[in-house]
Amino acid sequence: MSKEVDYKLLPVLAAKSEAEWTRFFKKNKKKLEGMDLQVHSFHDAITERTDCLACANCCRTLGPHITDKDVERMAKALRVKSSDLIAKYLRIDEDGDLVFQSMPCPFLGTDNYCAIYESRPKACREYPHTDRKRFYQIYNLSIKNAYTCPIVFEVLQQVTGNSDQLTGNSKK
Ligand code: SF4
Ligand code: SF4
Repeated sequence: MSKEVDYKLLPVLAAKSEAEWTRFFKKNKKKLEGMDLQVHSFHDAITERTDCLACANCCRTLGPHITDKDVERMAKALRVKSSDLIAKYLRIDEDGDLVFQSMPCPFLGTDNYCAIYESRPKACREYPHTDRKRFYQIYNLSIKNAYTCPIVFEVLQQVTGNSDQLTGNSKK
C-alpha cells in the first residue's frame, strides 16, 4: 500500500507546525535522546506507505554532498573517467563540497527514476536520515527537511504527537 500525498500542501503545513516542533525540541531534549527506537519505527512505517516515485522532491531540490568514493562509483557505472564525470556534472560549492552543477539532479528521469540508482551517492541513499542513530542531533535539520520531504514531515508530526496528516491512505 502506498500513500497519495498532496505535496503542494507540504510547505504550508510545515510552516504551520514549525513553531510547535521547535517548542517540543526545547522542552524534550533529554527525552528525544532516548527516542531513537520509536523514531525509527515511525520512519519505517511512514517510508513503507510513502511513494518516493510520486515525489522526488529531494532529487529536484536538495544538492547531495558527493564524496570521492561516490565519484568513483558513479564514473564506473557510467563507464566514464572520474575527471570527465566531474567536469560534466559536478562543481565545488561555497562550502568547498562537491555537488551537482545544478538541480534537479541530472540523473533524475521524467518518470522520477534515478538513472544511476544502484550507484547513487551515499547521501542519496541515506536521505531523509530519520532512521539514523541519535536522531536528536539532526532534529533541527529535519525541521528544514520537512518543508520538502513528506517522510520527515510525518516523522516530526508523530514524534511531537501532532495529529495533522498530509494525506489519506489510498491504493496505487
Ligand atoms: S523528498 Fe522524501 S518522500 Fe520525497 S522522494 Fe525524497 S525521500 Fe522520498
Ligand atoms: S543521484 Fe539519483 S537519487 Fe541522487 S539526487 Fe540524483 S536522481 Fe536523486
